[in-house]
Amino acid sequence: MQTDTNGAPSPFSGGEQAVRRGSWPRHDPLAALGGAKCLACGAPAWRGGYPHDTRFDGAGYRFFACAGCGAHFINPVPDAATLARMYAPDAYHQAFYADDGRANHDTMITHLRAHLTDGARVLDYGCGNGDFLRAALAAGFLAQGAEFGASAADAAAERSGASVFDLMRGDWRDADEWDAIHLGDVIEHMTDPLPTLAGIVARLRPGGVLAAQGPLELNGSLIGMCVRAWARAKAARGQQGSFIPWHVLYFDARAQRALFDRLGLHPIAWQVHEDGWPYSHHGGARGMIARMGVALARLPGLRGRWGNRFVALYRKPAAG
Ligand SMILES: [Zn+2]
Repeated sequence: MQTDTNGAPSPFSGGEQAVRRGSWPRHDPLAALGGAKCLACGAPAWRGGYPHDTRFDGAGYRFFACAGCGAHFINPVPDAATLARMYAPDAYHQAFYADDGRANHDTMITHLRAHLTDGARVLDYGCGNGDFLRAALAAGFLAQGAEFGASAADAAAERSGASVFDLMRGDWRDADEWDAIHLGDVIEHMTDPLPTLAGIVARLRPGGVLAAQGPLELNGSLIGMCVRAWARAKAARGQQGSFIPWHVLYFDARAQRALFDRLGLHPIAWQVHEDGWPYSHHGGARGMIARMGVALARLPGLRGRWGNRFVALYRKPAAG
């Protein structure tokens, strides 16, 4: 099975995606829609998606909604050289510090302790600044990280005290099989998620645990509804976005679970919660919406379904 880097400079790309780069035809959106295929499941697009469009590095990118799994995905897929510029150390540090503090390491560590023994070997794939590694070491696991590029890997190692592989080198695959692999805010960056995830699962021991957490940017959420409505209003006024498309995939709970379901794993745990992001660190009206959104997602009937984050654990079958 194809694994992640395959010589491409991004850990999130199998390098096999057909790449069509260039401005999307603003005057003929149906033509653009015709060739767009979901990165998560391969099904065609059926309409434009969130967050509409953006320009990066001289090229236009548009987002489409998948007719199959319901994920929203970027088109064209940024090519390897563009991904390398997106994940250049300066820009990439911004990317992972932007998500810093969102991941719920305490919840994840509690889940892992329920399913692993002391001293279990845990890999944090895409370990960012090393926060999860610190928590995993403190919990008694033999934790190591993997991050894209030597400078980011070194920074995570220094901050966490764990050893960190450089994903560009690919040598994390040479280590013994892992008891658990954690993916924190990683999957939404993958341009070829199914083969990349299959390559990661291949490095788990039989019976090992795939643990993942990340955003559900399309899920039921008061804050999400406001953010998406704002994006639609901007697009309707003809305003093109100018964000760096680090997230190439956007999920709701159903689409996220559909991707995991294709890996042939046994589900152990699935949780959805609301953290109010990106309004949670604002005051005024946005801060109020964040507090209302968090409260709303805790109401009976919405609890466990509404929310903008997931925590998931899956077990690799013991045989085969
Ligand atoms: Zn899909």
